[in-house]
Amino acid sequence: MLNQALAHARNQREQHLDQLIEFLGIPSISTLSEHKRDIERAARWLATDMTNAGLEDVEVMPTAGNPIVYGEWLGAGPEAQTVLVYGHYDVQPVDPVDLWVSPPFEPQVRDGEIYARGASDDKGQMFAHIKAVEAMLAAGGKLPVNVKMIFEGEEEVGSPSLEPFVIEHKDLLAANSGLVSDGRIVDTNTPSLVYALRGMSYIEISVKGPKRDLHSGSYGGSVHNTAQLVAEIIVSLHDENGTINIPGFYDKVRELSPEEREALRKVPYSLAQWQEETGLKTPWGEKEYTLLERTTARPTCEVNGMWGGFQGEGGKTIIPAEAGAKISMRLVPDQDPQEITQLFGAHVQQFIPADYTLEVLEHVHGWPVITPIDSPEIRAAARAYEATWGKPPVFTREGGSIPIVATFQKELGAPVVLMGFGLDDNVHAPNEHFRLEHFYRGIGTIIHYYHYLSSQV
Ligand SMILES: [Zn+2]
Repeated sequence: MLNQALAHARNQREQHLDQLIEFLGIPSISTLSEHKRDIERAARWLATDMTNAGLEDVEVMPTAGNPIVYGEWLGAGPEAQTVLVYGHYDVQPVDPVDLWVSPPFEPQVRDGEIYARGASDDKGQMFAHIKAVEAMLAAGGKLPVNVKMIFEGEEEVGSPSLEPFVIEHKDLLAANSGLVSDGRIVDTNTPSLVYALRGMSYIEISVKGPKRDLHSGSYGGSVHNTAQLVAEIIVSLHDENGTINIPGFYDKVRELSPEEREALRKVPYSLAQWQEETGLKTPWGEKEYTLLERTTARPTCEVNGMWGGFQGEGGKTIIPAEAGAKISMRLVPDQDPQEITQLFGAHVQQFIPADYTLEVLEHVHGWPVITPIDSPEIRAAARAYEATWGKPPVFTREGGSIPIVATFQKELGAPVVLMGFGLDDNVHAPNEHFRLEHFYRGIGTIIHYYHYLSSQV
């Protein structure tokens, strides 16, 4: 069954490529309202292709924004695992269009790469999921797992309709695990699995003191300067090692296990690379953690901007009535972003003199995510990569956030596997491309993944 499905996928490569070219030819740019019809066309095209692939109950489902395309195959029965696949069919704008070697919506294959907007992010990668299911159904009439697929059309505009959709359709989307291919591997010879993402609490503080800006000659020395107060608050956030000083901040941090630290050491990431990227020589921060651990697996607290007082040309001798700062904290499992915002607020409050006011505004919060490296999903994914790439993947964590992954984990209680097949690929830039070999290996990896996931339980 596994081998027949793989053989079928191999035999269909030309057809799969032709279909991908057709899909990539639809300019489904979600950030530009003039492409609204193209978005709808892409959704319908996708629904037709999913139906042809053998998925059932395929539906273009309306949302407040762009439609979500849903389809399922539940023939493995209630005892089998159910996997929820997510991807997005919308793409980024193409400007500056004159830097494209071939037109962004006239896909062209050059040197084993397909060039088009969306080739890697995310049409090419999500399409591999449909083709994997198609090959398995065509070869053996069934899959070893149940599969549900949702493809959204608003990822590039921040997925405003997705979370409400997930909450509204919890029963429809119920699954044992999630599967997302919208990312990259380390390099073509080094498959990798991102098993954790950081969350975020983004806060703005503003401090108000005297009723107006005061003359520093008349009042200097008698007033606690608000800009200085904000600076004092900022200084209080870290100790000299870079450890965060907010009481309770680390209470829920899941410490890195020795196995994880060992796995992270295998990720090719060097001081030289950090130096090259930052233009600096000497890293700062928690000395007991490696650079990669600091940037991906440890929580942070960074000042993104601070303001207060006079910023214009020349001098103006005032004591500002008001000052503030924007601060983002990257969070790791199992920190709770809202709780962190509260702890932060309580910490800052103690610096505020009696007749001053403090405002704490939370702009964004997002949950951190982890699917442990010894979980059945990650183990199956690792075997699937090894079977396809001929090499076991390295395990990495990512310093940034992917909100949808946190939503799946939180709302559906499902661990999520991030199974990327891309490389740098110029995503969001001119000449976006996707290596065809990675498209085909992607299909093979997904087929193997379902096989290993089902044979493990
Ligand atoms: Zn994407």
